This record gives sequence, structure tokens and C-alpha cells, in this order.
Amino acid sequence: MSIASIRILPPAPTPARKGASKCGVCNRATARRKPFCKDHILRLPYPASVRRDLDSAQADQHRVNTGGVLAADILTVVRHQGPCTVGRLRRLLHLPHTVAAKYVRALVLEGTLRTRRVRGEHSTMVSMA
Ligand SMILES: [Zn+2]
Repeated sequence: MSIASIRILPPAPTPARKGASKCGVCNRATARRKPFCKDHILRLPYPASVRRDLDSAQADQHRVNTGGVLAADILTVVRHQGPCTVGRLRRLLHLPHTVAAKYVRALVLEGTLRTRRVRGEHSTMVSMA
């Protein structure tokens, strides 16, 4: 094959942008065709369920929903990353420390997780039970 026979293909055309999406609540245009704008993003199913879990965790100091999405997210992190501290869980999942600690405690009571104090550090290591 000679150099002259090599054809340089033009870049594939960018697919035409379909009409921008509008927020289902306020009808403003949304970024990346999301169904809600940033002010109404909590209407999406996942953020809405996280919000419900956070609200119920804050409303009732002693009850957490160990069958909810926050508990499932905590278990996913521990399963995939291995043992980690409550602080790391909190940072990875963007949770207030009290909420992360409360969920870990509930999951320990339930027998799903176990914790141990890290010697010489003021942190608690969390792992699967
Ligand atoms: Zn909106």
C-alpha cells in the first residue's frame, strides 16, 4: 500500500443535538437533557429517595432505614473498597458524620457490618460482618 492510497477520513459528524430538555417543574432549559433543572433535581427518583432517607434519619434520631438507598450505598462502598473508616464512608457518600455513624451503628446491630476501633487513631474501621 502506498502512502498516496491512504485516505484520511473526516471526523464522524457529531450527532445533531435534539431539542434541549425543559425542567418538568419550572419549564426552564436543563443541562444535558436532564428532566429537571438544578433547583428541582431532587425530583429525580434517586435524589428523592436519598432525601427521604436523610429526612427520616434526621426526624427520628434512633431509627434509620437499613433497607433504604443510603444503607445500600454504604454496603456497596464497604463491599467494593474493603474495610474503611466511618470518616471515609462519610466523605465518599457526602453524608453528615452523624448520619453516617448512625447508619453504620444500625447496620452493625442488624449484623450486616462490624466495626473495630483503630488503635492510636480516633476512628472506627468498618467492614462486612
Ligand atoms: Zn426547574
